Amino acid sequence: MSHVVTAPSPVVLPVVGGGSWPVRRVYCVGRNYEEHAKEMGFTGREPPFFFMKPADGLMHVPEGTVGAMPYPPGTANLHYEMELVAAIGIGGANIKAADAMKHVWGYAVGLDMTRRDLQNDAKKQGRPWEIGKAFDASGPIGSIVPATRAGNPSSAAIELKVNGVVKQSSTTAKLIWNIAETIEHLSAYWRLEPGDLIFTGTPEGVGAVVRGDVMEGSVAGVAAISVKMV
Ligand code: MN
Repeated sequence: MSHVVTAPSPVVLPVVGGGSWPVRRVYCVGRNYEEHAKEMGFTGREPPFFFMKPADGLMHVPEGTVGAMPYPPGTANLHYEMELVAAIGIGGANIKAADAMKHVWGYAVGLDMTRRDLQNDAKKQGRPWEIGKAFDASGPIGSIVPATRAGNPSSAAIELKVNGVVKQSSTTAKLIWNIAETIEHLSAYWRLEPGDLIFTGTPEGVGAVVRGDVMEGSVAGVAAISVKMV
């Protein structure tokens, strides 16, 4: 049977060392570093919660290049959120934290770009977050790094600079819910499948960027990403 409209292109990321990663779903964890939860007005001790970005909202940026992210429409307060991303290689439901790391094939670095003004409006009005979080090019992301090449992502420096000035500087050891615990919570509500990505949350220091700003993010031992707002 032939399609009656143009089929969307599959969303695929390159893998460091060879091969490619077919992206299925993109899950994101909200407020997963205590100091960021506090700067957003929360206690930092709530159970994890999740939202999604569309897979085709990712924007691949090869390491060593500067990606060009179009400033999105409808916002006057576009925020960066530097994040470690976990890539699921083996699916499952109701995965226990003790078994969870077997399901992680690799990692990436990503930016959970956020139209903060629209997200804040949505929060106030009890509306969904998609307009603030799930827009086109809202997820600049590097290549997938196999776990065997990724150092120790559970205790790695995570940093973001804007125009050379450090804005976010923390360690993934400060995740409120670590990757294994996150997978336990997430897989209790959705069955994970190979190709799923999980943006694990951002540390404190989020802020706005405007056209012309250059963001340089890294998770030590994993990867780095550079993006210019255009
Ligand atoms: Mn985030």
